[in-house]
Amino acid sequence: MRRFRVPDGTPEAQYRHAGLLAVQLCLLLTTACTLALSGPLRVGPTDQVLLALLLVQHAGYVLWLRRAPQRFQLIGLLELGGELLAGTYRMREVLLVDHTAHGLSGYSYWLALPYLVASLALPPRAALAVSGAYLLVLGALGAAYWTNPDVPPGLRQDNGNAWLQMLLMHAALLTVITLQQHLRRRYALAVTRAERRSAQALRDPLTGLPGRRALDDWPQLPGGLHSVVYFDLDHFKRVNDTHGHDVGDDVLRHVARAARAALRAGDRVVRWGGEEFLLLIDGDAAAARAAAERLQDRLRRDPHPVAGPVTLSCGVAHRRPGEPLDSTLGRADRALYAAKRAGRDAVEVAG
Ligand code: GH3
Ligand code: MG
Ligand code: MG
Repeated sequence: MRRFRVPDGTPEAQYRHAGLLAVQLCLLLTTACTLALSGPLRVGPTDQVLLALLLVQHAGYVLWLRRAPQRFQLIGLLELGGELLAGTYRMREVLLVDHTAHGLSGYSYWLALPYLVASLALPPRAALAVSGAYLLVLGALGAAYWTNPDVPPGLRQDNGNAWLQMLLMHAALLTVITLQQHLRRRYALAVTRAERRSAQALRDPLTGLPGRRALDDWPQLPGGLHSVVYFDLDHFKRVNDTHGHDVGDDVLRHVARAARAALRAGDRVVRWGGEEFLLLIDGDAAAARAAAERLQDRLRRDPHPVAGPVTLSCGVAHRRPGEPLDSTLGRADRALYAAKRAGRDAVEVAG
């Protein structure tokens, strides 16, 4: 069987973890209440010891889930195993050994819990297989009770009827949980696909850099976006005309690689369009100028293998407090054209 692992940090993992935590907190509360009320509820001494152990177990699972959320599946499986064993053992006692005269016991209300826990700890098919097998075991227990000659007839009818209603309710619950689990999986898959496509749409396929649209919802840089460098390759048309469009494309990739390498942590590079790029610098105009010069320097030291040296003209603008991004870019654009007019291979800072 393919190993099942929900990737950490996904909404699916968060949902399952939160569900298991909620189940554990409910169980912890129930155990604590039952233990506190063990006098009036007439809980025997052996059961009190068992309840105390359960209290420790649920408290341990709650702590474990909080400390190591990524282990939620293991914790869920341990809980599930315990529930299945305890539930079938306990109900076997109630139905086939004790022939209790006071209904199916308080425990019977918890018999549906394994369906929930299985759906949180296992993939849909495995959860359905385990839950279905458990439902069959509960059905077999009911059949054994019904056909047991030692059970007094009055009890047989009352408890047998209650058991049957319970099993049918379990079947309905299991069906809905299974359908819901399938739907959730399809939904999660659709969301993942949509996110991947939207990430691809924001990325420029030629250079692998974020494209212009990525700037729309660009995550805020640490401390905010402070300065921009708008740069344009010098005489790029000549590269295309002399060496062909494919070499031109490769020069753009070469520049993109150099820009990535020249940037410091927290700074970003965007392909604005054609042979124009943008550096987003988390710093003042001097830091932006330094970044532009580092990039020019890198390209000077590392010419393109076919097209030779690549030079850039750069316009730097420091973002004024509250200034719209468009306006900062407009000033950087004017500085860029000043750099072109000044003879290219230059950096100009906007006033
Ligand atoms: P300047 O120094 O004034 O910027 O001159 P330039 O030749 O670089 O400027 P111009 O705007 O005249 O030419 C830009 C060229 O960039 C024209 C266009 O064909 C080319 N270009 C734009 N996008 C791409 C691309 O994706 N691949 C290639 N190979 N060329 C591109
Ligand atoms: Mg241009
Ligand atoms: Mg150009």
